Amino acid sequence: MKTAIEPGLSCRASLRLRITAAAESIVRGGHPWVFAQSVRGQNRPGATGELAVIFDRADRFLAVGLFDAQSPIRVRILRAGKPQKIDQQWWQQRATNALALRRGLFDPQTTGFRCINGENDGWPGLVLDQYDTTRVLKLYTAAWLPRLGETADLLKGEGRLVLRLSRNIQKQALDDFGLKDGRILHGAPLDGPVVFLENGLRFEADVLRGQKTGFFLDQRENRRNVGALAQGRSVLDLFSYSGGFSLSAARGGAAGVCSLDISEHALAAARRNFALNQDQPAVARCRHETVQADAFVWLRQSQERRFDLIILDPPSLAKRESEKDDALAAYAKLIEAGLARLNKNGILVASSCSAHVSADEFFSLARASARKSGRRFNELRATRHPADHPATFPEGEYLKCIYLGFVE
Ligand code: SAH
Repeated sequence: MKTAIEPGLSCRASLRLRITAAAESIVRGGHPWVFAQSVRGQNRPGATGELAVIFDRADRFLAVGLFDAQSPIRVRILRAGKPQKIDQQWWQQRATNALALRRGLFDPQTTGFRCINGENDGWPGLVLDQYDTTRVLKLYTAAWLPRLGETADLLKGEGRLVLRLSRNIQKQALDDFGLKDGRILHGAPLDGPVVFLENGLRFEADVLRGQKTGFFLDQRENRRNVGALAQGRSVLDLFSYSGGFSLSAARGGAAGVCSLDISEHALAAARRNFALNQDQPAVARCRHETVQADAFVWLRQSQERRFDLIILDPPSLAKRESEKDDALAAYAKLIEAGLARLNKNGILVASSCSAHVSADEFFSLARASARKSGRRFNELRATRHPADHPATFPEGEYLKCIYLGFVE
């Protein structure tokens, strides 16, 4: 076997892998993951973070990727097809490419967006989000930990860089690298959230401790759409988190907004976000109420209240394939319960962020639940990923949202 690839972190012979025929064709087709059970052999044990070179049955270079000795996703592909030298310049070019794709997408009224969306931008298992002058680097695989020195410098931008670690790699990061979730890698210290702009609204992002990187940037366009539908309506924002949809509806002229979440911490952030935007007359005029409850239970219990616009944005209800059927049943239940609360001429906006449920499945389910209500409705809109969250492989495609307008 010949390789033109640098051995990466190690000065030993480069790590070489052979994989099953099925995995070979999947990688050839552009999929970025090789699972542990697809590895047929390797020349030596691999260390997490080093480059693994995959050869095909005819001993030709197939791909090179990041090896992760612990993860079921054993190799995350960086490059398939022709061999290339993976050095500092190569990483620099990858970073430049990702940022170039976002150029011109946002005006100065939006200072929060995703710069790198993992596999979909050629940085498998790594996300980089920008909130004003703070960037948040979130790692989902331990393979990046030994590479942090070379990558953090490339990704830090002009201001602060915060490191966030997915839960499953936190122990390893601390034990082996002394790295803690929330560590400031560059720039000024920080002890609370940062404020940024989304379509002209001020929001806090809890970059040190919040879910994902501190805010759900992926719903930006849906929030703007909801704002445009909110004029004069009473709005129920279920699974509100820090009130992204709620505040957009308020700015859009909603008469009143009820933000409901199971987390009081999230609702406190929603109240602070409303406070941050009181200079906007429509926000100042809007009645804002927060309710701490389990949405599933609350929908069953408080039967009397009705709303003109209801947003359903639950967390992923299917974290693995085996949970898919239960998730579909739960989505249907939520949509049906939401519809029971919707006034005549009301609008239901239902979103799913589970990659195990496809957009077509989710949209069909929402339409079927709407038909079941016996009410006449129009499909106003169906959306998927925004441009700063590209999805280039099936598992990367998680977000979908459908807008149903009820005529009666
Ligand atoms: N719509 C939000 C993002 C929602 S994230 C936005 O635009 O930013 C999902 C939210 O659901 C989290 O805030 C979580 O606390 C909340 N949540 C999870 N389970 C819940 C439940 N059973 N009832 C109500 N809220 C729940």
